[in-house]
Amino acid sequence: MEYEAVIGLEVHAQLLTESKIFCGCSTKFGAPPNTHVCPVCLGMPGVLPVLNERVVEFTIRAGLATGCAVQPRSVWARKNYFYPDLPKNYQVSQYELPICLDGWLDIEVEGQTRRIGITRIHMEEDAGKLIHDPGQPVSYVDYNRTGVPLMEIVSEPDLRTPAEAGAYLRALRDILVYLEVCDGNMEEGSFRCDANVSLRPLGQVELGTKAELKNMNSFRGVERALEYEIRRQRAILDDGGKVVQQTRLWDPDQGKTFGMRGKEEAHDYRYMPDPDLLPLLIGPEWIERVRSQLPELPEAKRARFMEQYGLSEYDAGVLTASKALAGYFEAVVAAGAQAKAAANWVTSDLLGALKAQGREIGQAPISPAGLNGLLGLVDAGTISGKMAKEVFAEMMETGREAEAIVKDKGLAQVSDAGELESLLQEIFAANPAEVEAFKGGKKKLMGFFVGQVMQRTKGQANPKVVNQLISKLLGG
Ligand code: ADP
Ligand code: ZN
Ligand code: MG
Repeated sequence: MEYEAVIGLEVHAQLLTESKIFCGCSTKFGAPPNTHVCPVCLGMPGVLPVLNERVVEFTIRAGLATGCAVQPRSVWARKNYFYPDLPKNYQVSQYELPICLDGWLDIEVEGQTRRIGITRIHMEEDAGKLIHDPGQPVSYVDYNRTGVPLMEIVSEPDLRTPAEAGAYLRALRDILVYLEVCDGNMEEGSFRCDANVSLRPLGQVELGTKAELKNMNSFRGVERALEYEIRRQRAILDDGGKVVQQTRLWDPDQGKTFGMRGKEEAHDYRYMPDPDLLPLLIGPEWIERVRSQLPELPEAKRARFMEQYGLSEYDAGVLTASKALAGYFEAVVAAGAQAKAAANWVTSDLLGALKAQGREIGQAPISPAGLNGLLGLVDAGTISGKMAKEVFAEMMETGREAEAIVKDKGLAQVSDAGELESLLQEIFAANPAEVEAFKGGKKKLMGFFVGQVMQRTKGQANPKVVNQLISKLLGG
């Protein structure tokens, strides 16, 4: 039997707010345990939550960027469960009436564009973190993360392959980072994904029984976990067995998923409206204000770079991988550089050198104006393309201006026709036989004369100008 995989993703994105969702505690990562806590996020009796407006603003941004309808009225719900990382014994979330509905995201896989539905986006609070001490029969709990705002983005079961799931996640991460609502860091857990997957006989409309996969902390990890799980389910179905609905944990070292628990049903959580929080009302003015402030998103920027600067799809893709890199490139062009040359230098030389130095584009030792200065020297023929690489390396090391380096090192090409002409006259006078032979048709001697000039200028003569001069003076 031929089977088709059906995949739907639930992404939790940690929002880049300064303070938590219902109190003023800091969201900063890495503080000593239980120092960013207060009676509200510790769930003490008698306290009341106060909603952080920026959490709503950020979620509206994400909703608009993914084509969702932002709901004029949404409702906070309590999701009840007992676990030591949850001091209130309920998590404030949204359930029946979330803030965003019915969006989409276009992904590209193997040259094909596919539109993936987004079912909903809702806001919720994060739980604390349990720390297990392998040397002792105890566990600790850190509540610094309790109440940190999250956005959950749920896709429709529209994805069909692990590669599509990977493409969806990368596209979504890029958008959230561009929107400056999430730092998109999967390794540190600020962008996490649960992957739901089932199989069904090819051609069947009804969905099969799914497993929910957790504990993947990289894009590749999500793809690998799905690949494994699809194989596992296919083997069960081929054997005439039934897939059980459950939550499974991915173990990246063993490359396998392991059944963790039967999947809870929604009724297990006893969702109820939170009586401490009013329904959230969002007027059209707020939505329009956020819409008018949305930045250009990666896909639109890529298309514009191809159109406006005549770049290849590949170059445009590399340059728009981050907002900072795209901004750097555009600043080089704005300073006067030719787009194609700027794109080449940024995508190969600059990115390569930054990688070698372990630096981000924001920490580049060469400013956009500085790179433009270097390109200007090449354009003007002051230095050759080869010398430019040398100057560039020095700029990366020292952060100095191209012109200063060229001057100090005496690297400037000699392009001055008058200077080169008198040099050539000396060379001709010293080599009368070669001059006669050249005039008699032995054009191969061009190389000999150029070589003489290079020797006397220590390689700094502009070869193009020298060639032209020799032809002009000796008739060629
Ligand atoms: P649950 O109630 O188990 O959380 P939901 O219906 O809320 O399930 O869906 C959660 C995610 O799982 C969504 O991304 C959805 O697209 C996906 N999903 C739902 N049913 C299936 C299925 N049979 N196979 C694969 N993915 C599914
Ligand atoms: Zn607090
Ligand atoms: Mg669900």
